[in-house]
Amino acid sequence: MKLYNSLTRTKDEFIPHEPGKVSMYTCGPTVYHFAHIGNLRTYIMEDVLEKYLRYTGLDVKRVMNITDVGHLSSDADTGEDKMLKGAKREKKTVMEIAKFYTDAFFADCGKLNIKLPEVIEPATGCIDEFIKVIENLIEKDYAYEAGGNIYFDTSKLKQYYLFNNFEEEDLQDGVREGVEKDDNKRNKADFVLWFTKSKFDDQELKWDSPWGVGYPGWHIECSCISMKHLGEYLDIHCGGIDNAFPHHTNEIAQSEAYVGHKWCNYWFHVLHLNTNDGKMSKSKGEFLTVSLLEEKGYNPLVYRFFCLQSHYRKSLVFTWENLDNAKAAWDKLLARIAKLDKNGEVDNAKLEELKRDFVEAMDNDLNTSLAVTALYNALKADTNDATKLALIADYDKVLSLNLIEEAEKLNNAEEPAENDEFAAKIESLNAQRAAAKKEKNFAEADRIRDELKAQGIILEDTAGGTKWKRV
Ligand code: AMP
Ligand code: ZN
Repeated sequence: MKLYNSLTRTKDEFIPHEPGKVSMYTCGPTVYHFAHIGNLRTYIMEDVLEKYLRYTGLDVKRVMNITDVGHLSSDADTGEDKMLKGAKREKKTVMEIAKFYTDAFFADCGKLNIKLPEVIEPATGCIDEFIKVIENLIEKDYAYEAGGNIYFDTSKLKQYYLFNNFEEEDLQDGVREGVEKDDNKRNKADFVLWFTKSKFDDQELKWDSPWGVGYPGWHIECSCISMKHLGEYLDIHCGGIDNAFPHHTNEIAQSEAYVGHKWCNYWFHVLHLNTNDGKMSKSKGEFLTVSLLEEKGYNPLVYRFFCLQSHYRKSLVFTWENLDNAKAAWDKLLARIAKLDKNGEVDNAKLEELKRDFVEAMDNDLNTSLAVTALYNALKADTNDATKLALIADYDKVLSLNLIEEAEKLNNAEEPAENDEFAAKIESLNAQRAAAKKEKNFAEADRIRDELKAQGIILEDTAGGTKWKRV
């Protein structure tokens, strides 16, 4: 499989460090608010990547953090602390906020068929690891203390900017959104590993450390949580494109300074979901959630389908019109699948031949848009329905759209609706006929029998009552 690697800026053949096994790390949500559907685009595409790696026979171990503390990277961060802001907004403690929005995130993942990683670790569960790694970085002279905080010294690295061609000027105060001045830093790009003194001093959660009571910086959590569960060699690190700099750049800096060798081989970045007004952002406060899609009557899987229709390395524009187009395509697709006849033998040779279409698309840097085309091609293919259904079930191990179950629902939903109404009408006429017979109004009873017969229904008077059947 070829995968675009932000580190090499090319599509590289994916070769795991240990044959047959994949270690994969995902930056998890900052749990001060609901995830927006932009965040969830990233998680959907990461889910597809994991499932496709499994589909090809690899054994994947995946780890994700939950940022419940420590999303600050220096005193240069502007505005308020996000977790505190969430807690104040809802008059709850930071941990209550974290629990509530972590559960909400899991619920959203469930609705979108996003499999949760094997290991999910909140940052607050790893304080000892952070301290251990920071102590080691200080020992090796990669970190220094200034103004009560511990900073990583980026000037100690041979190369710091790895993903993009950021220049020092880009880090000038006020140039990049969210950057103010932090006089403690030796170099502009330095970042905080541990805070003890900060303008965000009203933090609720603080821990004892060799440098005083404080809390971790944002970047250290992902490095430590990844290394704790996946060791010193990581195959794939994922996240949205906004994480490439500074978050992932800083993760590489501190992880490689700590382990003393290359840490992660493949960096998988998902481009953003935008609205016509620009990037969707949690901190702006106004954003689209899965619950909102549901309130408006959309099946969340329609949103997953919408995401799969385009490539993860292209930014995607969300409009209701675009979502409606995806819904129309989804409805048509399900209707076609619903018509397939389950009976019959699967033609395995044909199945393997047709599957190549799908595998080729996915092997080419996870081209889900072409994989969806492969799905349509399977429906059009010159083979029997059983083989088509087997192909759809096979692709759906990766696409996770519940295609067969959803199509089945369609079949079941239509019939009872029609049947129920029909049966109720007959039962009502039957009851009227029984009443007429009781009143010895045989003319009326016969009239009802004839009316039913005209509708293709025959009545049979039995000892147990009157039964009806279609002619
Ligand atoms: P956060 O909860 O803000 O830490 O973000 C969770 C994930 O969503 C990260 O991988 C981000 O890079 C990603 N992300 C943030 N905004 C967007 C967006 N508009 N579109 C796609 N992914 C996003
Ligand atoms: Zn991260």
